[in-house]
Formats: sequence, C-alpha cells, structure tokens
Amino acid sequence: MMGFAGMPLPIPLPVSCHNCTEGFVLATFEYRCPSCGCVHAVTPCHAFDPDNVVSVGVDY
Ligand SMILES: [Zn+2]
Repeated sequence: MMGFAGMPLPIPLPVSCHNCTEGFVLATFEYRCPSCGCVHAVTPCHAFDPDNVVSVGVDY
C-alpha cells in the first residue's frame, strides 16, 4: 500500500466513512475522514469502485 497513498484519484470517489458514516469525497488513494480521522484507502486497480474503499483505522 506504499508509494501511491498521496496520489490523486483519477476520479474522486464519494464515500461514507466506515467508522462514523460521515460522507466525504475520497480524492487521493489514501484519505483521512475529516470528521473522525479514520483513514480510508483504495487500491489503484479498484480506484473506480467505492465498494473497494477500505478503512484502515483512526490515526493510522
Ligand atoms: Zn469518519
């Protein structure tokens, strides 16, 4: 999961936080929920599918 975390997504994904359900737009491959700080990540091969966004955890 290293090396692409800060790269912008080809298309920003609207997602709901897996931790606090706050809605936000995932703009990079790794993105921190603005509400609770839970980090979410998506792999480049699944960058177009919100179902493949995973939460890594708060303060990861
Ligand atoms: Zn959250």
